[in-house]
Amino acid sequence: ALRGARVTAPGRLCPAGPALLFASTGHGRERGRRFYACSACRDRKDCGFFQWEDEKVSETRLAAREEYNRNHQPSFTHRQNVERYKNFVLLPLPKRRFCQECQQLLLPAEWEKHSDHEFRCDISTAQLKTPSQLLYPLENKKTNAQYLFADRSCQFLLDLIIDLGFRRVLSVGTPRLHEMIQSKASQKEDFRVRSLLLDIDFRYSQFYTEDEFCHYNMFNHYFFGGEAAHETCRKFLYQDNGERVILVTDPPFGGLVEALASSFKKLMAMWKETEKEGCNNQEMPVFWIFPYFFESRILEFFPSFSMMDYQVDYDNHALYKHGKTGRRQSPVRIFTNLTPSMIVLPVEEGYRFCAICQRYVSSGNQHCEICNSCTSKDGRRWKHCALCKKCVKPSWFHCNNCNCCALPNHTCEKADAGCFVCGKAGHKRSTCPSLSRA
Ligand code: SAH
Ligand code: ZN
Ligand code: ZN
Ligand code: ZN
Ligand code: ZN
Repeated sequence: ALRGARVTAPGRLCPAGPALLFASTGHGRERGRRFYACSACRDRKDCGFFQWEDEKVSETRLAAREEYNRNHQPSFTHRQNVERYKNFVLLPLPKRRFCQECQQLLLPAEWEKHSDHEFRCDISTAQLKTPSQLLYPLENKKTNAQYLFADRSCQFLLDLIIDLGFRRVLSVGTPRLHEMIQSKASQKEDFRVRSLLLDIDFRYSQFYTEDEFCHYNMFNHYFFGGEAAHETCRKFLYQDNGERVILVTDPPFGGLVEALASSFKKLMAMWKETEKEGCNNQEMPVFWIFPYFFESRILEFFPSFSMMDYQVDYDNHALYKHGKTGRRQSPVRIFTNLTPSMIVLPVEEGYRFCAICQRYVSSGNQHCEICNSCTSKDGRRWKHCALCKKCVKPSWFHCNNCNCCALPNHTCEKADAGCFVCGKAGHKRSTCPSLSRA
C-alpha cells in the first residue's frame, strides 16, 4: 500500500517526473520505512520505480533508469502532434482515420503500419472537437481512471463559472469541461471564456495546441514540457483587464490528497506571482471536485474551502451516474474558496437556499437547530444524536459499546478491512485518526 505521499525527489525521475516519498504501511519490519515511488502509478506493474529513502543507487542502475525513461516517452512530441493535426484536417473525410488500438489520428502514410489494428474512419470536425468521446476513457482502477462529467453537470459548472464572472478556466484534469469551453469558443463569436487544460493524458496533445494543453502531472506539479510549458501556464494565469481566472480540478479519487494539495498550492502561487501590484491579499479561486468523505482532509490543507451540496454526475461511472430511473446519489461535491452564498445551485433539481447557513443545500438537507447548520453530507436527511452531540446518517443508531453512532449491524470496536483514508486496519474511514486531527 502506498499512502501518505509527502515530498518529491528532484533527482529521482521516472517517466511521470520526480518520484514521491511514501511511508510503507506493510506489516513487520518494513512498516513505516520510507521509499520513493512513481507519483502517478500506484500499481508497480505500470511503473516499477522503487527506491528506499536511504538506498544508494549504482551507476549502472541509474543508466538503466535513464534508458527506461527514454523508452517510455510518447512516440510523437506535442509539437509534432500539432503539425500532424494540421495535416489531418486537410484530408478529405474518407481519409481521416483514427486507430483505436494506438488511440492516434493516422496520416495516410501510416495506415500500413496499423493495418491489423481496428480503426474508425470519416472522423468529422465535430469529432475532433470532442476528443473525450473519441478517446476511450482510461481505466486503470487505482490511479488513472477517467470519469467524464455527465453533460448536465458539465453545463452546470460552465454556467456557474460564467455567472460568477470568470473568463479564464485553468482546467486541471477536466478534459470534458475544457472541450465544452473550446467548442463554444469556436462556435460563438461572443463567447469570451478561455481554457487551458493540464492533464497527464498525453493523447489530448493530438487535438490541442501548446497554448491549449500542457502535459502535466498533478501529483508532483510536473510540467513535461519544461520551462516553455510553465511559461504558457503563467501567461494564461496573468489576468489582464479584469479577466478573472479560476482553477477547476477533478482529480482521480485514489487519494493522495496531500500531494494534490501541494500541487494546487503551487498553481495558486503561480497565479499570485502574476498579480499586478496593488492587488489585495486574495487567494486564487478554486473548484476542487472530490467525494464528500474527503471533506476534512481537504479542509486540513485548505481551511478557507467549504463543501457545496451539488452532486456532480458522471457518464461512465457505474455507481455515480444519474440513472434513468430515479437518481443515484453521487458522493462527489465541489470544494471552493469562493463565498458559499455565491454558488447558486439549480432549484429545479431540488436545491434550496438556507438563509441561516447562507448557502444552497440539497432538498433533503434539513437545518438542525442544535448544530445550527444544514448537516447532511450525502443529500439524505440526517438526524441529531444528543449523545454524540452531532447529526448522523439516518441509518445509524447510537451504540453504547462503541460510544458513538454506527450502522445497526456493525461489529463493535472491530473493523477488519483497512481504512479507506489511511489504509491501516482497526478502524473505518469515519473514525480515522488522521481525519479527526482536523
Ligand atoms: N470529470 C472530468 C474528468 C476527471 S477524470 C471531465 O469530465 O473532464 C480525472 C482526470 O485527471 C483525467 O482526465 C485524467 O487523465 C487526469 N489525471 C489522472 N492522473 C493525473 C495526474 N497524475 N496528473 C494530471 N492529470 C491526471
Ligand atoms: Zn494502431
Ligand atoms: Zn442551514
Ligand atoms: Zn444536529
Ligand atoms: Zn450517537
